[in-house]
Amino acid sequence: MTHLTIPICGKDLNTCREQISSAVNAGAEMLELRTDYIQSLDSGKLQELIAAGKKTGLPIIVTCRDASQGGQNNLPAPLRKQMLIEAVKNGADLIDCEFANFIKEDFGEDIKKVLEENKKTKLILSEHNFKEPFDDLAEIYEEMYSVYPDAIAKTAYQANHINDCFAAFDVMREYGEKAIAICMGQAGIISRIITKKLGGFLTFASIGDNQGTAPGQVSIDKMNNLYRFDTINKGTELFGVIADPVGHSISPAVHNACFAAKKINAVYLPLFVSGGKSEFDNFLNNITSRPWLGFKGFSVTIPHKVNALEYAQEKGEQIDPVAVRIGAVNTLVIGINERINGCNTDYAGALDALTGAMGISRKQLKGKTVGCFGAGGVARAIVAGLADVGAKITIYNRTVEKAQGLAHEFECHFASIDEIQNLNADIIINCTSIGMHPNVNESPISAEHLKSTQTVFDTVYNPFETQLLQDAKKAGAKIVNGAEMFIYQAAEQFKLFAQTDCPTDVIRKAVLKALNL
Ligand code: NAP
Repeated sequence: MTHLTIPICGKDLNTCREQISSAVNAGAEMLELRTDYIQSLDSGKLQELIAAGKKTGLPIIVTCRDASQGGQNNLPAPLRKQMLIEAVKNGADLIDCEFANFIKEDFGEDIKKVLEENKKTKLILSEHNFKEPFDDLAEIYEEMYSVYPDAIAKTAYQANHINDCFAAFDVMREYGEKAIAICMGQAGIISRIITKKLGGFLTFASIGDNQGTAPGQVSIDKMNNLYRFDTINKGTELFGVIADPVGHSISPAVHNACFAAKKINAVYLPLFVSGGKSEFDNFLNNITSRPWLGFKGFSVTIPHKVNALEYAQEKGEQIDPVAVRIGAVNTLVIGINERINGCNTDYAGALDALTGAMGISRKQLKGKTVGCFGAGGVARAIVAGLADVGAKITIYNRTVEKAQGLAHEFECHFASIDEIQNLNADIIINCTSIGMHPNVNESPISAEHLKSTQTVFDTVYNPFETQLLQDAKKAGAKIVNGAEMFIYQAAEQFKLFAQTDCPTDVIRKAVLKALNL
């Protein structure tokens, strides 16, 4: 069992009691009493804190962290040692002692002695690096076990890139519940969740957002309600969105809601892959060389859609011809023998959103005139889709050469944004970021160009109803919002991940909730 642990880190006993009560109510499975946070710590306060912790019936860890390893209040070594010894005598289930101190004779010998006399208390040996990963992580674990074989060995280090997490996964795979390996920082968030699948001893969560004791700690609410921590086990399959930035992505909320609705043993994670092609390639190589991690699929978004296509091409993997024509892959599915299948679901998502709103079939788009604003990634997918069904497209773009290039590839027309007054199309689509939060008053087309006979589609989904769509509504036009496209592309993607449909209503509800609508 991987214990979902909340650090209690109040400066005084009353604050600690409040935190303990919040942690219990939120579903904590273990408490870590960070005694080093308490002002003027002494034996009396330690005893009271332990008593408050034990009252909950949850297992408790007592930690009195050395300042050199992230501790508070710069407590002297004799006091820290005394607190750990007294914690054992007062019935703590576990104590956490820095390995660097434990191997000092005048520190570790007394701790060993009290543990020998109180066999119910277990020892966590820990080592922290708040700057970077350790050079040889496996060696640290071997050393800790060689010094104290019964120890639960713990490391916590800053992951400066998501690729730094794989050493921690290797350790957890080898030692399971005898190990704790935490990768701190945004790039390390996944380690806090994947540890459950790998059977690590514990993972830390914070009581609320931004209330953690270490960078990257996820709130217990998100652990339980977004990642469904209680359902994760050895057999859980992993999925995620590869992006930079990834924090704003609504994909984890949407796909986790789908997996929950379909009762599928899978969890979907935010995968912060910074850097360019080489970092992206390393990430996927790390995944495919560790099939035991159980990653089965990825959504891919900015800035890696082209990297995903090139990766699949270079490896000789299967790529859907539509994705090749678009020149971008937004979905990777990992199949048997770690073979990868690359697809693009933006194409289908956009067409389905459009035809759904217009109440027509894809075939009926043939011959419709379309004014498409933008010539970036989304425009490529939408132009490819509309060209396939025989729509007559004109691409308008700020950088006219890009419009020209795209028009040439898909045999359609192009024009500069200044020619907008000549726009007379059945369908208008905004594929630029104009009008996106926070520039919510902006629109790529002024209201006077919009007509009641038109359908106006804005791919921007934040805000839900952009200025362009508000103007189109006033003009009496049909409108299609970006959330609809997102919903349909997510539905397509989920089908590829899970080999089964998720009702669109479930996805729509999750999208609207994630967008606070
Ligand atoms: P992209 O590849 O970076 O392309 C951006 C496009 O917007 C380019 O054509 C760019 O013109 C144009 N643009 C940006 N700022 C502009 C400005 N101030 N004035 C005029 N043109 C401007 O981005 P993308 O991946 O295509 O994404 C575009 C938008 O699509 C995003 O903002 C997002 O809201 C939306 N999107 C929606 C979904 C969905 O499922 N609904 C999915 C993905 C994206 P230049 O070529 O001149 O730079």
